[in-house]
Formats: sequence, structure tokens, C-alpha cells
Amino acid sequence: MGGAELRDRGAAARTEATGATVGREVDLVGDKAGAARSAPRRKTDRRPLHDEPVRPVVGSSRPHERRLRPTEPSAAGSGGSGLAPGLYVVATPIGNLGDLGERAKATLAAADAVVCEDSRVTGLLLHRLGIERPLLVYNDHSAPRLRPKLLRRLAEGAALALVSDAGTPTISDPGYRLVRAALDAGITVRAVPGPCAPIAALSIAGLPTDRFLFAGFLPPRSAARKRELEELRPVRATLVLLESGPRLAALLRDAAEVLGEREAVVARELTKLHEELRRGRLVQLAAMFGAEPPPRGELVVLIGPPEAKAPELAQEKVDAALREAAAHLPPGRAARRVAAATGRPAAELYRRLRELGHDGNQGEP
Ligand code: SAM
Repeated sequence: MGGAELRDRGAAARTEATGATVGREVDLVGDKAGAARSAPRRKTDRRPLHDEPVRPVVGSSRPHERRLRPTEPSAAGSGGSGLAPGLYVVATPIGNLGDLGERAKATLAAADAVVCEDSRVTGLLLHRLGIERPLLVYNDHSAPRLRPKLLRRLAEGAALALVSDAGTPTISDPGYRLVRAALDAGITVRAVPGPCAPIAALSIAGLPTDRFLFAGFLPPRSAARKRELEELRPVRATLVLLESGPRLAALLRDAAEVLGEREAVVARELTKLHEELRRGRLVQLAAMFGAEPPPRGELVVLIGPPEAKAPELAQEKVDAALREAAAHLPPGRAARRVAAATGRPAAELYRRLRELGHDGNQGEP
């Protein structure tokens, strides 16, 4: 326990040493008032976890062949949990309970404690898995006080599992500073990877995946959001953004204005019952979502990289093409034909034809 006081906020829950708290928040920072806030509340207003429908699993029929490590090595010093000491960063489902991996389950079940963002959300998850572990709430509010205590416990040999409400901890979720501090202190940090909304969206969006930039939530105000979009404009990568339903249309509008005619995808309610993918140009999606009530649920916005322009032709080559076309076409049609071939504006080519001495009386572009 590292000398820190452990108090269970749940009336019937036991201490971490006996390891029998279900969905109860254990107060590691000595918050006496916490006892009064103890009743575990059912969280119905966010992130419903579906254990149905579970997607069919595609893979080897001999799972042992695909496993790189059989299980975590057991180790003394982790309170007999069977998990080697260290910090385990465990991904949890973003909607479909069936996405929780075997190793994630085993890690949660064996950890000395589960460090979570919200004890109600994680308590419900553990309850549905039939796992009983003490919960330590680590969020923006409690992190500064809790982090040194968690580090002390880890240094003493505890095995702690870090989870967020859903998906991969530290990705637009708390935990980065804890991971960094643990690494700096020489503590083993292990990934127990799994669901991650931005990566899941990217994997099915049909946009280039060789280079992508995850920018999370952009600022809610249009002026600040456009400034960030301006910064992102030259980036030659797919942009992966998070946004809420009510702000989606405004984000798409600003993105269309700043980034122009790029391909984009809105991935909504991934792994859930109403999963949906909408694809189109930014302008089309902005118009589409602008004309509808705000979409419900959670979503990821992906924007394709700037499209490569045809390499600029040397002026001599353009001039040669213009002369050749003008030899058998009126100047206007010749300019349009070369414009289609080179991507140069037809009006510019028409002016150039006149400079080259071709008569411009007929067929302006
Ligand atoms: N760490 C999380 C992860 O790995 O997925 C992301 C945390 S971030 C605070 C939560 C945001 O992710 C939501 O507001 C939404 O933009 C996106 N998101 C989460 N679950 C999603 C889902 N099932 N479908 C689409 N987007 C989702």
C-alpha cells in the first residue's frame, strides 16, 4: 500500500488487501468526504456497453499459434496476484463488450488494483465481467495527488492496471503523465492493446493509412478551430479528429473552407448497434450534416491528405502543346484542350496563345 491510506467508498466493500471490491472506488488520497459519496451509481447516460452483437472472429483456429507470450509471468511482489509488478495500460471496449481481449480480462482480474477514469463506468465493466478489483480514480482532478502514491506502490512491487472509460488509455484520455513518470522511475510499463476509436475508424475509412495525424478534438470556437486547421493544411497525411455530434456540421464547414475539396469520412458509433460510415468530399459532408439534426452518439472525423497535383509542365512544353492544338483548332478550343491535359486554367492558356501570335477573335474559352 506504500503507506497510503486505503478507504473503500462502498459500504460493503472490503479493502484492497482482501481484494473484494466490485465497482467501488477506493480512496487512496485520504478523502474522508468520499465515504458519503459511496453508493455506486449505474451509469446509463454514456457509453453503453453492448455485449451483443459480437462480430464474428476471423483468425487462426489455433489461437496459441498467434500468441506471442502465453500469459504474464507470475512474480513475487505483486501481492500474489500472479501478475509481474508494473503498470499495465489496458484497452477496453469502445462499445462492444465482445472486443475485450482475453489478456485484458486476465490482467484486470489479476491486478492489485485498477486505476480508472470513472469508477462508475469501470465498475460496471468489471461487474459485467465478474471481476472484483479495487478501483482507484485517476482523472485530471485527482491525478496530481494520486500519481506519487501510485508510483510508490508500483515501486514497491504492485501490479496496477490503467484503464480509461473506453478505448486505449492516454489517447485523448488520462494517463500520459503517469506512464511517463513510471518509465522515468524505472518501472515496467506494459501495453495490453485493444480497441481504440481513432484507429478503428482509420482502419475502415478507406483513406490513406500510411501516414496519419491524430489531432483529437479541435477547439470548439470557429476562429481557433480554423487557426488549427490552417496549421494542419500542409500536412501530407490523413487527419484523424474527434468531435461531438452537435459540433460536427460546424467542424466540417470550417474544414471545407480551410482545407478545400478533400475526401472525408465520418465514422459513428463504431462497434455499436448503429455503427455508420459516411464518406464524401468535405463540402458534401458539411452540407449533408448541416441539413440534418446533429447525429447521436460518438464519432471520429477523418480527412484525406491534400491531393497531389499533376507536376507543373515546363512553359516550353505548354507552349508547344498550345501551338500544336491551335494548328487545327480555334484558339478557345485549343486553350481548353491544353487546359484539360495540363491542369492550367483555360483563360491563362488563351492569353498565352495570343502572346504567341494566334488570333483570339473566335472561340474564347
Ligand atoms: N481513448 C479513447 C480510444 O482509444 O478510443 C478515446 C477517448 S476520447 C475522450 C472519446 C472520443 O472518441 C469520443 O468523443 C468520440 O469522438 C470517439 N469515440 C469513442 N468511442 C467511439 C465509437 N464507438 N465510435 C466512434 N467514435 C468513438
